[in-house]
Amino acid sequence: MSDCIFCKIAAKEIPAKIVYEDDCIVAFHDIQPVAPTHVLVIPKEHIPSMEQATEHHKELIGHIHLSIRNIAEQLGIHEDGYRIVNNCGEQGGQTVYHLHFHLLGGRQMQWPPG
Ligand code: IMP
Repeated sequence: MSDCIFCKIAAKEIPAKIVYEDDCIVAFHDIQPVAPTHVLVIPKEHIPSMEQATEHHKELIGHIHLSIRNIAEQLGIHEDGYRIVNNCGEQGGQTVYHLHFHLLGGRQMQWPPG
């Protein structure tokens, strides 16, 4: 989508600190980190949110999650633990409407989230 900031990052039209990329997904550091490690993992395909995910995306979403595990290892946070977050829709706290999963680590997480 032409006005989507994450599509622009995936297309390298705007810069990002990319930590992993393959044919289907891109992972990059969040511009406003809320943890010592804060990476966003996105599909290259524009899917607005989990609400628009379908059976067709099952493999892609599985691939994102297994890649997050590998990225956590790459970034050295896998042994201490980390959190994977998807904010979906307004009450879920979503602000960018291109599906993304937050990988948060490097500090003790709290529960429940705010
Ligand atoms: P959401 O609130 O779950 O939709 O998360 C959106 C995230 O995207 C926030 O953590 C923002 O800091 C992050 N973000 C917004 N614009 C950019 C950008 O241009 N580069 C990297 N991260 C961004």
